[in-house]
Amino acid sequence: MEVVSLTAFYRQPERFYRWLRPLVQKMAAAEPNPAHHALAELEKLGRLQALLTQNIDGLHQKAGSKNVVELHGSLERLLCLNCRNTFPSKNFYPHFIANNVIPRCPACAAVLKPEIVFYEETLKPSTWDAAVKEAARADVMIIAGTSLEVWPVNSLPLYALENGAHLIINTLSRTHLDNQADILLNYEISDALPSIVRAILEG
Ligand SMILES: [Zn+2]
Repeated sequence: MEVVSLTAFYRQPERFYRWLRPLVQKMAAAEPNPAHHALAELEKLGRLQALLTQNIDGLHQKAGSKNVVELHGSLERLLCLNCRNTFPSKNFYPHFIANNVIPRCPACAAVLKPEIVFYEETLKPSTWDAAVKEAARADVMIIAGTSLEVWPVNSLPLYALENGAHLIINTLSRTHLDNQADILLNYEISDALPSIVRAILEG
């Protein structure tokens, strides 16, 4: 929290990028898991309209998901806090990893910040609105791999419930909405989500 705050970033961007370095290295090598693939498959089958995620690693898109709302932003883009231009981070990270050169804006030379939501920051209004819109038109919402502890994302199921949606909760922990769920799946998401796809395919 101390590093991933706007105040700290403005004061010591080097410190933030030192913290980010192992994450970026891990991300470059990361591959989607069976849960990512299952969600992409559900969308391809026409059973999933939107994927609302707190993940910032871009793995849903790597698995083939198209309509992804990234509530906490993405490490895949860098934002200039001075001129507000955004850039794909893949143009900067290799240089950063190899030579420890902090990404700077090609237009104005200010330090670039990954387009993720920091502490002290609110979610991007257009992103939040898109998530609410998708939640409010859902007839089924699958809540997967979250204990629904982070506000305001944990309030999204309420918009679905208001629309009369069914809830399927797939997590190993308890959530504040367990008693509202139609189905509770206390299994690993990498097991449960592919099973849902298999059940659909087998009719
Ligand atoms: Zn700039």
